[in-house]
Amino acid sequence: MDTSVFTDFTMTIAGRAVAGDTSYEVLDPADETVAARAPVCSPEQLDQAVAAARAALPGWSATPLEERRKLVLAVADAVEAQLEPLKRLLTREQGKPLDDAAAEILGFGYWLRGTASLSLPETVNEDSAERLSVTRRVPLGVVGAIVPWNYPLGNAGFKLAPALLAGNTVVWKPSPFTPLVTLKVGELLREVLPPGVLNVVSGGAELGPWMTAHPGIDMISYTGSTRTGRQVMAGAAPTLTRVTLELGGNDAAIVLPDVDVPAVAEKLFWGAFANSGQVCLSIKRLYVHREVHQPLLRALAAYAATVRVGRGTEAGVRLGPVQNRPQYERVLDLLQDSHTRGHRFAAGGRPGEGPGYFVGPTLVDDPPESSRIVQEEQFGPVLPVLSFDDIEDAVTRANASEYGLGASVWSSDPEAALAVGRRLRAGTVWINEVQHLTPLVTFAGHKQSGLGSESGTEGLLEYTAPQTVTLRRTAPAAAA
Ligand code: NAD
Repeated sequence: MDTSVFTDFTMTIAGRAVAGDTSYEVLDPADETVAARAPVCSPEQLDQAVAAARAALPGWSATPLEERRKLVLAVADAVEAQLEPLKRLLTREQGKPLDDAAAEILGFGYWLRGTASLSLPETVNEDSAERLSVTRRVPLGVVGAIVPWNYPLGNAGFKLAPALLAGNTVVWKPSPFTPLVTLKVGELLREVLPPGVLNVVSGGAELGPWMTAHPGIDMISYTGSTRTGRQVMAGAAPTLTRVTLELGGNDAAIVLPDVDVPAVAEKLFWGAFANSGQVCLSIKRLYVHREVHQPLLRALAAYAATVRVGRGTEAGVRLGPVQNRPQYERVLDLLQDSHTRGHRFAAGGRPGEGPGYFVGPTLVDDPPESSRIVQEEQFGPVLPVLSFDDIEDAVTRANASEYGLGASVWSSDPEAALAVGRRLRAGTVWINEVQHLTPLVTFAGHKQSGLGSESGTEGLLEYTAPQTVTLRRTAPAAAA
C-alpha cells in the first residue's frame, strides 16, 4: 500500500514539528503489522502544547468572527485537498474500507463548513435610557479535545469546528490506536492556522488523564466510552474544568408489524453494521414484532451473506476489521458468552481466520433480554435481533438501559412510529432512518450516554460561557 507520502509523524506544538522523546508502534488492524511509529508526548511537551495554546488565545479570541469563519473553511479545504493520501492512511490505521475512509474525511470538511455558517447569539436584556445590558458568548479558553478510534477525524471535526469558531484554542489528542491521520492533519494545518491555535499531541494511556487534570486547560471535550467518561469528569473536578462528554450507547431500534421487510432490511443492516458496528449511534439492539421477526431475520442474514469482509484496501470490501485487539477480544468474549448460553446464530458467530481482527456480521436470533449481548454495548459487528408481541413491552425494554444516546422506530405508518418514538428516552430518535446527522442539528446523550451536546448552535455554545455586560447610561442617583 502506498502511504509513502506520509512517513514521519510529528506532533504539532506552537505551529512547529515536535518529535517525541520516544515513540510507539501503531498497528494495522487488518494484519497486525506496524503501520508507523507515533511520538509519545512527555509531560513537559504537554505543558508546552498547553502553553502554546494559552499564548495564542488572546490573538485568536480577538480575531473577528468573520475571520475565524474563513480560517475554519480553510482548514476544511486543506484537509480535503489531501483526500487521497489521507484516506489511505486512515484505512491503514483504522481498518475501514477506503470509500468509508474517504467519506469520513469529506464528512470532516462538511462538518467544518456547516459549523462555520453558525453564529454566536447576543441577547439584549435591556436597552433603556438608564441602562444597556447585553449577554454575549465568550470563548472558554484552551480546549482539550480527546477523541476515540472509531472515527479519528470525524469525531474530531465535531469538536474542532465549534471550538475554533467560538474563539478557543485547542490541544487535540487522538486515541493511541489511531494517531496517524490526526498527526498528519496537524502538520497540514501548520500552514493554515496561526501558531498555537491548534496543537496536536499523541501518546499512550497516560496522556488523557494528564490533560483532564491540567490546570492550563479550561475545557475537555471528550468522546469515548462511558467508563472513561466518568474518569474524565473526576479528573476535571478539582479544577472545575468544563466538560462535554459524548459517551457510549446501546441504541434500540423497534420494528412495528406493518413494516415493509424488503424495504427496510438493508437500511437496518447498515444501521447496525456500518464501520463494523463501531459507531456510537449504531443500532445495537433490534426489537422486531413477532409477526415479522423471522422474515426480517432471514432478510438480514441473506443480505449479510452478500457483504464482503476484509482488508479495507481490497476492492469490493464493505466491512473492515475491528479496530484494535482489546476491542476484538471484547467482541469475541461476547460471542463466546452467546455460544456458551446456547444462543442461535442466523449469521456469523465466529472470528475470521488468519491475522487481523476480523469478525463477520453476526446476527443473534432472539437471545434472552438479560443476556450480555443485549445488555452491554458490543461496539462491534454483532447484533441481537429480539422479538416482541406487545409494543408496551418493546418500549419498556428499549428504555431499560443506563444509556440513552439514539433510538429508531420503523413502520409503514409514520404517525404510529412517531407516537412510539416520542416515548423513547434517547437524545436522538429517528423514524424510518438512523444515524442521520448534520452539523446544524444538535445531538446529545441522555442518561449515561453523555453530558452536554455536540453540533448545531447548542453544540457551539458548549465552547462558550455567557457574559453579561451592563452599561449604566445615567449617573447613579446621589446617596440621600
Ligand atoms: P475510550 O474511552 O477508551 O478512549 C477514548 C479516548 O479517551 C482515547 O483518546 C483515550 O486515549 C482517552 N482516554 C482514555 N482514558 C482516559 C482518561 N482516564 N482520561 C482522559 N482520556 C482518556 O473509548 P474508546 O474505546 O476509544 O471508544 C469507544 C467508545 O466511544 C464506545 O463506548 C462508543 O460508544 C463511544 N463513542 C461515543 C460517541 C458519541 O458521540 N457519543 C462517538 C464515538 C464513540
